Amino acid sequence: MADSADDARPAPGGRYILSDEQQNQIKEWVADKSANTSGDCPVCGENAWRAEEEVVMCPVLPMPPSDRPAAVYPMFILVCSNCAYVMQFMALQAGLSLVDSDD
Ligand SMILES: [Zn+2]
Repeated sequence: MADSADDARPAPGGRYILSDEQQNQIKEWVADKSANTSGDCPVCGENAWRAEEEVVMCPVLPMPPSDRPAAVYPMFILVCSNCAYVMQFMALQAGLSLVDSDD
């Protein structure tokens, strides 16, 4: 999805921020994969999706007892601007490139 010139970059506060282009690419990727050809929200029926600019993470439940930090999956989310319903997707599987500031 993202090429090396437009990778998600760490931002102040340790957040990954997606560019406007990446947010549009995410919406296009989801629309391409979706069986819901209307693109309407399953809750309110509006078609008003917004890609959040921040990449979020989903922690993996560790097997107790564990003192190791939990592994995480980076996720991107789409939010219905009308009713706040959220769809989340595995960012790496969707081709979103995440790099650190040393690259
Ligand atoms: Zn909605």
